[in-house]
Amino acid sequence: MDFEKFTSKIWLSSPTMHGEEQQFVKKAFDSNWVSTVGENLTCLEKDICEFVGCKYAVALSSGTAALHLAVKLAGIKQGDRVFCSDMTFAATVNPVVYEKGVPVFIDEEYNTWNMDPEALKKAFKQYPDTKAVIVANLYGTPAKLDEIQEICNQNDAILIEDAAESLGATFRGIQTGTFGKYNAISFNGNKIITTSGGGVLLTNEEEAADKVRFWSTQAREKAPWYQHEEIGYNYRLSNVLAGIGRGQMIHLEEHKTLKRDIYFRYKEGLKDLPLQMNPYLSYSEPNFWLSCILIDPGCPVTPEIIREKLAEYNVESRPIWKPMHLQPVYQDHAFVASKEDADVGADIFTRGLCLPSDIKMTKEIQDVVIALIKSCFLLEKEKNK
Ligand SMILES: *Cc1c(COP(=O)(O)O)cnc(C)c1O
Repeated sequence: MDFEKFTSKIWLSSPTMHGEEQQFVKKAFDSNWVSTVGENLTCLEKDICEFVGCKYAVALSSGTAALHLAVKLAGIKQGDRVFCSDMTFAATVNPVVYEKGVPVFIDEEYNTWNMDPEALKKAFKQYPDTKAVIVANLYGTPAKLDEIQEICNQNDAILIEDAAESLGATFRGIQTGTFGKYNAISFNGNKIITTSGGGVLLTNEEEAADKVRFWSTQAREKAPWYQHEEIGYNYRLSNVLAGIGRGQMIHLEEHKTLKRDIYFRYKEGLKDLPLQMNPYLSYSEPNFWLSCILIDPGCPVTPEIIREKLAEYNVESRPIWKPMHLQPVYQDHAFVASKEDADVGADIFTRGLCLPSDIKMTKEIQDVVIALIKSCFLLEKEKNK
């Protein structure tokens, strides 16, 4: 290859700031509301509610905190089973364990790379007393949310939607983060928009939102002294960071458009290779947070060959989330697939790769990334001649 190694790293997905963020942060400083109360917090929560179309939003210190409090709202206690997406970031699942619940992992399907409704149905037959389901929208692609919602209703189970990666994505025209009884989004640095770190719990229930505000600020009862009748947490977002979020919200649609362009440039640029892009349903619109590929079965080019090639040129790519049932920490947990011996998550993990999807990546840089990926396949062909 006649390309030079990039002097500054091409990231998978890094924060993109615009300027408005600093103005809102300055407001917090000027008014001295730099702690966990203030206008930025109330306005950010209002902005999010209006954007996703949900009644209540509570801004928290992370998406993980939002998921933790969602699990608490669902009433998960010692020994309670919770059906969870399997191929996802560990933060989807860990909060179940914080509450001493027992995650049971549900396999994925190939159409969205998300929880397989068939496997979920099977899991309810196997464990009918399960109280809650946590579904993630991987890489910003909505799961089969209507089917999963319906299965939860039929089984009297509470649905929690982990929309950490999918803010701005829609399913049948409805924003993700609204399909669960309790929902979480993340403002971590690598997500589609960021507050440096932060998250939001979304719900249509006033009582649940109030409870989350209460728990997230140390569960202080209404008394002049510090009165505690429940265990609380220090999970509230800072008003300073909420200012970053307000500035970022202005640019959410723009980020989504740029991410979408990146996805379709990869799709076009890689179309002659034995691989597919991460798929989505025709009646859903991802936020295209990360563009990923799935290499055809039997192809000698492995995701690791591509990842290492890109790394040589200072380009970041990343393996697909390693399924939870393959993680040593969760090895004793049950895993339910739609068919005996099936393991879609493990298959996608083995053949898939997340490509750099940073919206500051120019078209010219992306063309180089595409050429580098192509070169891996050419090299392999040469070897086999
Ligand atoms: C990022 C992420 C989280 C956790 O969000 P944080 O804000 O980093 O705590 C949870 N689930 C998924 C699927 C994520 O990608």
